[in-house]
Amino acid sequence: MAALTRLFRSSSHVSLIRRSLFTASASTPLESAPIRSQAYSSSHDTKDRNIQWVFLGCPGVGKGTYASRLSTLLGVPHIATGDLVREELSSSTPLSKHLKEIVNQGKLVSDEIIISLLSKRLEAGEANGESGFILDGFPRTVTQAEILDDVTDIDLVVNLKLPENVLLEKCLGRRICDQCGKNFNVASINVKGENGNPDIKMAPLLPPSHCASKLITRSDDTEVIVKERLRIYNDKSQPVEEFYRARGKLIEFDLPGGIPESWPRLLEALNLDDYDDRRGLKDRRITLYVLRVQAIDRAFRNLERRRFHFRL
Ligand code: AMP
Repeated sequence: MAALTRLFRSSSHVSLIRRSLFTASASTPLESAPIRSQAYSSSHDTKDRNIQWVFLGCPGVGKGTYASRLSTLLGVPHIATGDLVREELSSSTPLSKHLKEIVNQGKLVSDEIIISLLSKRLEAGEANGESGFILDGFPRTVTQAEILDDVTDIDLVVNLKLPENVLLEKCLGRRICDQCGKNFNVASINVKGENGNPDIKMAPLLPPSHCASKLITRSDDTEVIVKERLRIYNDKSQPVEEFYRARGKLIEFDLPGGIPESWPRLLEALNLDDYDDRRGLKDRRITLYVLRVQAIDRAFRNLERRRFHFRL
């Protein structure tokens, strides 16, 4: 592991990712004021940059849904490495053939390939004046987490959780509009809570009529492959939770149900619940800036309380 890490540290991909992240940290795009992350001190320069959050969680838990909603709310890009892999798959490069085999078996793409895809995405974002990010699906191995830790400071890691039987049903019910790319779900979930936990109910998330005839299923959302992806998550990705828990950055969030129940509770957990984006704010830029600062400050106060409570 250490040898592999050293290899990545010296590879051009890591220089690329390091350069992208550092430049993004220093830039101040016109439409987005930077956050001064004073609540969190670290060895890297966290001043004058936008939020850098990570979403962890098993396949099908809803990382994409909630990361994308938060990205709209906070004005930072949502970067999902699964989307980067699927973009590559839709091309006809030699790499896409190799990736198809891996993804269709539910396996993880090599750290080197995924870092190369992420580096390119960050570079493109940097060229467009992007600042900060919410990462979804990365890091998925401790090596990836170590590399990320080596190149920049992550402010906060949100670990979304659902029981495995719910995850399986959600993946099997997932549908994507082939045209607009939006995610829907045809599953009607009603799972009895075990060990005193409440029941979990999720209504289907049905598409509007213009998407209904264009729905496709992901090739890796079959029962056999989802079970393999869950096995690989437990083996390779769960240690990443421990990596961030040990660094005091992890917020655990048990999803209470579907989006209507979970979204307000997630905003509450992140202390963003007083934000109402339908208010037609006069000075959206200043308000977003203040909200981002408050979000980071309060999320860390929350984290401190939890750490004390659980004696982490
Ligand atoms: P996802 O949409 O996040 O479920 O990702 C789809 C597939 O892309 C995964 O099953 C992996 O094969 C690959 N993938 C996405 N992110 C990573 C990552 N960080 N490391 C390795 N493989 C990844």
